[in-house]
Amino acid sequence: MPLTPEQTQEIEAARANPRPTLRAVSEGMEAHLYRAHEVLDHGFVRVVDYMGDDSAIVQAARVSYGAGTKHVSNDEGLIRYLMRHWHSTPFEMCEIKLHVKLPVFVARQWIRHRTANVNEYSARYSILDREFYIPAPEQLAAQSTINNQGRGETLQGEEAARVLEILKSDAGRAYDHYEQMLSQEGQSGLARELARMNLPANIYTQWYWKVDLHNLFHFLRLRADSHAQYEIRVYADAICKVVADWVPAAYAAFEDYRMGGATLSGKALDCVRRMLAGEAVDQENSGMSKGEWREFRALLDEG
Ligand SMILES: Cc1cc2nc3c(=O)[nH]c(=O)nc-3n(C[C@H](O)[C@H](O)[C@H](O)COP(=O)(O)OP(=O)(O)OC[C@H]3O[C@@H](n4cnc5c(N)ncnc54)[C@H](O)[C@@H]3O)c2cc1C
Repeated sequence: MPLTPEQTQEIEAARANPRPTLRAVSEGMEAHLYRAHEVLDHGFVRVVDYMGDDSAIVQAARVSYGAGTKHVSNDEGLIRYLMRHWHSTPFEMCEIKLHVKLPVFVARQWIRHRTANVNEYSARYSILDREFYIPAPEQLAAQSTINNQGRGETLQGEEAARVLEILKSDAGRAYDHYEQMLSQEGQSGLARELARMNLPANIYTQWYWKVDLHNLFHFLRLRADSHAQYEIRVYADAICKVVADWVPAAYAAFEDYRMGGATLSGKALDCVRRMLAGEAVDQENSGMSKGEWREFRALLDEG
């Protein structure tokens, strides 16, 4: 179960006690506040708190760029201008605090994003729950033959069953031993901080994660991307939906310029200009390496 009965009770109590506020409120975000969005088999993402909305971004930009922003009268246009020109600090005026439950191997990727504040469940202080991520059958994939950092075909039949059995039995056995090491009748038992060391990386942990919108967009750009591992991408996708409701104008600009857009090198831009002028451009006369050319062609052809 993603949420414990105590957590559910806590959330219901918080939702049952709304208070009026003079602070900027995002209606879209109010609907998400406290609600847990389930991710993977036992995980979730839920908004614990937030600060700011689209107008906080605009307000900050108008303070810093003053008269220079007057020609962009419309807020949405200003937000698109800021995103297009890589202005970061106005987006830092918005913050979000999330409660996330996620497998440890996903947490290891997530924690690499250093520009956030984190407070994690302590397995020195508390005993971890018997909850492990076991992939859904359609996610049990073989190693990709073309991408060393990716997946290929989905495992089928007996092979899928064999892998699932190994995953489940290893996790179960490791957890049994964890419990046995913590306490044994008549013996003092191993400290929690030591007993946890034989638990597998698919066990779930939890943390509070607070980040500003600029750095959240950076996280989402990398982790909601098709190159990110599926297990972290589903968390990023869940957060994208929340952000789209929280700051609709900023999210639309992010989706357009960052998720949907692409950066071209000087050589690539030159090739585009030559192509537009009717010249036949190929890898050999492009000035690009084979890898660069392949990626450039993929960018043009994907559209
Ligand atoms: C598809 C994918 C594959 C990956 N594969 C690997 C891998 O094989 N091995 C591996 O180790 N990692 C890997 N990573 C992790 C990746 O290299 C980054 O560590 C991670 O994405 C965090 O990015 P970041 O440092 O930009 O983010 P943050 O830590 O949030 O930093 C945001 C930005 O702040 C600045 N910044 C933050 N801290 C510092 C600092 N101390 N000094 C200078 N500038 C700073 C940088 O400009 C940085 O881009 C992978 C990531 C992705 C998305």
